[in-house]
Amino acid sequence: MTIQEQYQHLERTVRGYNPAADISRIRTAFEYADQCHDGQKRKSGEPYIIHPLAVAQIVAEELKLDSESIEAALLHDVIEDTPATHEDVAHMFSPTIADLVEGVSKLTRIQYATKEDEQMENLRKMLIAMSKDIRVILIKISDRLHNMRTMEYQSPEKQKQKSLETMEIYAPISHRLGMQRMKWELEDLSLKYLDPVGYQEIVSRLDAKKTEYDMFMQKTRAQVETRLDELGIRHLVYGRVKHPYSIYRKMFNQNKNLDEIFDLFAFRVVVENVGDCYNVLGVIHDIFTPILGRFKDYIGTPKPNGYQSLHTTVMGTDGIPFEVQIRTREMHEISEYGVAAHWKYKQNGQGAGAEGKYEWVRRLLENQEGADAEEFIHSLKIDMFADEVFVFTPNGDVQNLPAGATPIDFAYAIHSAVGNHMIGAKVNGRIVTYDHVLKNGDIVEILTSKGAKGPSRDWMKIAKSNEARSKIRQWFKKERRDENIANGRSSFEAELKRCGIAMRDVLGADRLPGLLKKVAYASLDDMYAAIGYGGFTAQKAVSRMQGELQRIAKQQQADRQALEAQESAAKPAEEARSGVPRRVKSEQGITVEGLDNCLVKFSKCCTPVPGDEIVGFITRGYGVSVHRCDCPNASPERRSDPELAGRWIKVSWGSDRNESYPTTLEVVAKDRLNLLLDVSAALSTTKTFVSGLQTRSTEDGFAILRLEISVRDGEQMQAIMNKLNQISGVLRVTRPAG
Ligand code: MN
Repeated sequence: MTIQEQYQHLERTVRGYNPAADISRIRTAFEYADQCHDGQKRKSGEPYIIHPLAVAQIVAEELKLDSESIEAALLHDVIEDTPATHEDVAHMFSPTIADLVEGVSKLTRIQYATKEDEQMENLRKMLIAMSKDIRVILIKISDRLHNMRTMEYQSPEKQKQKSLETMEIYAPISHRLGMQRMKWELEDLSLKYLDPVGYQEIVSRLDAKKTEYDMFMQKTRAQVETRLDELGIRHLVYGRVKHPYSIYRKMFNQNKNLDEIFDLFAFRVVVENVGDCYNVLGVIHDIFTPILGRFKDYIGTPKPNGYQSLHTTVMGTDGIPFEVQIRTREMHEISEYGVAAHWKYKQNGQGAGAEGKYEWVRRLLENQEGADAEEFIHSLKIDMFADEVFVFTPNGDVQNLPAGATPIDFAYAIHSAVGNHMIGAKVNGRIVTYDHVLKNGDIVEILTSKGAKGPSRDWMKIAKSNEARSKIRQWFKKERRDENIANGRSSFEAELKRCGIAMRDVLGADRLPGLLKKVAYASLDDMYAAIGYGGFTAQKAVSRMQGELQRIAKQQQADRQALEAQESAAKPAEEARSGVPRRVKSEQGITVEGLDNCLVKFSKCCTPVPGDEIVGFITRGYGVSVHRCDCPNASPERRSDPELAGRWIKVSWGSDRNESYPTTLEVVAKDRLNLLLDVSAALSTTKTFVSGLQTRSTEDGFAILRLEISVRDGEQMQAIMNKLNQISGVLRVTRPAG
């Protein structure tokens, strides 16, 4: 066939399945490619254009792709092997076609070497991922098929290398894309170069017996069809000899010679419904003798990838065993085209959503006959692995990372020691920043140093993979305890402050163990360390403690009330006699601007009483806390702090007051005998209720008394203070605050 004749053949093939194809554009592509490759020869000595023409023929004949794909197949080597550029092709044809050609060239440039299974899997996925437009990989496989068909002109090393690559990369991809026929041919061609002796043995044995085998299949098929016709079961029966590589694998795996291979022949019976599948099985087992232990019901129990069929092996006439697969038309279609639909599912156990994503492959192959192929193919531009990225180490190992991954993720994917000692990274030979986003096919090199100071906390924000983040966290946990404690403490304290909780509320000796239990840490330092390295957050710590603190506050209030109730029940007479006012819980006597029925609490730091100038602070969870305006905790600075803005609120003394308000006085006096007695007397004469009294002596002979008292209002308190001031030796009486 001349080149022109071959081209005519291509045109006829395309017209045959796609009458709408733009033949004039296909012709232009052919002429342009012919001109670009002019003077180039294949290893066989033929003009180079023979190759793209043959690839286009495969794309048309086997895959029945649209005219853009045919054009791209004709042009697939012009960017790689001739002076033509992406721009030239984009300009002459279309940017889409230029992208297809560029995509095929990119796949051609990837270097493969024999690798572990997992590495191979990643390589295959990367190839698909790099072929953003699925037509790229379909053209690439067709390219490989033609190169394999014409491999005899290559050097023996090249033959082996390409065959291995085909066996490990392209055949599995074809299988997954549902292209069984191409897969078989790729496998057989690879085997031919990988084990020439084994291959030749099988082929010549099959050849020698071809007539015998053909007759056997015809006879068997007729037997089955006759019986099914008699029973009125609608059916299609196919018979074939298994292809050499599948026989080879069986011989190798089962260590048997050709005559011992049970399923050299395979028949397929396709029927209308599941009931008929079992009817056909009965017929087969009636005509032929079933071989025990060879029946498998994949209809009742489908394979994990969804495959359904009945399989049985029987002994044919002349003692030749053969396999029969029985399935419905629907099962048949899924088995032929549906593999790709289950690819993702098998890869990482993801369910539903992913399957729909590959539905197109099935539809593509089902739709091959359709006149709308042209339109249909445009819907195929799908990112198959949009959530993953595949990059190389300088040694050519593939790493599979989440999309958006950075050199940090890569380094930690190699080993935590690599990440922890990283001082820089190169992508495709160029130094990049740590937040550089990796692309499919990038070669990433991590620069390390023994003296590296380790990861920085920012890395955790840059890293995309959980693996990297958790390894960085581990490092901080181990290496930087002191720093973590300091960092953790400051974030914890800031969070406490934000929530209006005082540190000493937390540190109260009786509270701390309960609070630590709430956050499940043995000590505050442990908790700080965890917050510091990112294993725990200050927000969580405070919110868990807050619950416990509220519980404690409630408990204390209840205790106090119970105690008061007990006291008032036990000592009514005494109180009446001494005339000391009973503390009665009633309205707090505070009006909060703009808020009714608001929970009010008098701050412990300055214990305001009626008559004092006061201001309110809205706490989180405790209602409004009332401070004296001269309390350091309500200082003008704090009241103008933008962080606390909106939480300060106007409050005033209302009419409906409590009978008394607890407050505190501090007395500083020259220490002497009977000082306490005189103070008690003064309190008694002013009818002051005392709920607590602490004294301490200073080294230079002074006594400091702290009195917890209850007063009706500021006036009464002023009177008490005057009385105390008259006691001999008293230097000053003050109301402590802050
Ligand atoms: Mn090529």
